[in-house]
Amino acid sequence: MKTVQHFIDGKHADGTSGRHGTITNPATGEETGEVPFASESEVDTAVSAAVKAFESWGAASLSKRTQVMFNYRELVNAHRDEIAELITAEHGKVHSDALGEIARGLEIVELACGIPQLLKGETSTQVSTRVDVESIRQPVGVVAGITPFNFPAMVPMWMFPVALACGNTFVLKPSEKDPSATLRLVELAHEAGVPDGVLNLVHGDKTAVDRLLEHPDVDAVSFVGSTPIAKHVHDTAGAHGKRVQALGGAKNHMLVLPDADLDQAADAAVSAAYGSAGERCMAVSVVVAVDPIGDELVGKIAERARALTIGPGDDPASEMGPLITAEHRDKVASYVPRAREQGAEVVVDGTGLVVEGHEGGFFTGVSLVDGVTPEMDVYADEIFGPVLAVVRAEDYQEALALINRSQWGNGTAIFTRDGGAARRFQLEVRAGMVGVNVPIPVPVGYHSFGGWKDSLFGDHHIYGNDGVRFYTRGKVITTRWPDPSDGGIDLGFPSNS
Ligand code: NAD
Repeated sequence: MKTVQHFIDGKHADGTSGRHGTITNPATGEETGEVPFASESEVDTAVSAAVKAFESWGAASLSKRTQVMFNYRELVNAHRDEIAELITAEHGKVHSDALGEIARGLEIVELACGIPQLLKGETSTQVSTRVDVESIRQPVGVVAGITPFNFPAMVPMWMFPVALACGNTFVLKPSEKDPSATLRLVELAHEAGVPDGVLNLVHGDKTAVDRLLEHPDVDAVSFVGSTPIAKHVHDTAGAHGKRVQALGGAKNHMLVLPDADLDQAADAAVSAAYGSAGERCMAVSVVVAVDPIGDELVGKIAERARALTIGPGDDPASEMGPLITAEHRDKVASYVPRAREQGAEVVVDGTGLVVEGHEGGFFTGVSLVDGVTPEMDVYADEIFGPVLAVVRAEDYQEALALINRSQWGNGTAIFTRDGGAARRFQLEVRAGMVGVNVPIPVPVGYHSFGGWKDSLFGDHHIYGNDGVRFYTRGKVITTRWPDPSDGGIDLGFPSNS
């Protein structure tokens, strides 16, 4: 049994609260470690370290911050396999998928390497006689980041590289379910030259999170997780005067028009619904099939779903691993019989799957449920597992209305060969990220990531230009260098001449 430690002010630290969580290997069900849960005073120690470090890091040159980011990029790249193994051992996702999340996280480190370009200000010369105006952006101060279990490497890397490159210091509270990969990323940042106190990590639960949300020295909060906690984080941090972005849950719809290539659409639906066991905020969980292709599409998806290989993430033959906990697996599985009771047709029933040699693992097979209506639980809830619902729609308009009524608006996709229909969809759909024949439209690092409705509380998307704006505040400087002819008192409001 290993013990994962906090990392505060450049050093590992044992927990002192007496409270801890248990880390489990989801592929075997074995307990493999313990993670300390920080007390309020341990959080305070981390925030104090960040406050102190901000004095020098906030004033460090752009070239120093950039050099550290370049070093970090090289180090994470060199340790990809090791980090991916840590992810698989605690999250359960297959090794190739873990490598994929590291690659997407590295994209944001690469964005942060270009921070001098992103932080360039604006100047207007001679706005009035001998008066110049300059707009600059400065770091906000101490940022707290709170991250979910499903991307223990990528989501923290959505946050701290940009925040640090902008000159902020950071306190990270990763998921308590799979904390080892996140700790490794923080250790590597220090190897790369991040000074002590600039990037701190505390483990924990609600106690640690709430202290960060209320702490008077935390200036901004980035959160990614489920909708109810995102709302709590947004409201609490906002009530304490902090800048906050809180990304929440999702129920992503994939609309398939009759003219789509149905083999490609079926491939995409299976990949996006069952990849990472459906534990992705951009997973497709609803296919909306527009008449008359529903039967054919469902047949193609079912055929592919039945052929998937499910097993431990460290077996190269596995295409899908286990779920994060036994409790979550059971909750996910419960939606399938409930859908049947509520009138849907269960086309593929993956519940009850046992993987030979891994009987204690938290596995479920993949499920496909057809004839779903919005009133059914399988449609209404974010299941966050490998259960794909199919809703039939008579036409584009009905399909669009269904998607737009959803509580969530993270990602969505349309599959069609009709450019006009795709263009209409991208303008009319109420969601933050849209794919055209792309099932998981996670934007590249130099754009930005964020949903609408209950998928994001706050004004800013994460990373890209929005990330830079979130982690900086604007300042506008108006300058006049006096000329001997200046002078005289004028009580009027300054005007331009
Ligand atoms: P979660 O909301 O349970 O936990 C997220 C973080 O909040 C963790 O660090 C956790 O320790 C903390 N937390 C949990 N309960 C808390 C409480 N009562 N008070 C304060 N803090 C609390 O989410 P999860 O199960 O780890 O992750 C899955 C969820 O995250 C899904 O809903 C998924 O859609 C969402 N997600 C969203 C995005 C996105 O970009 N929108 C990305 C990844 C995951």
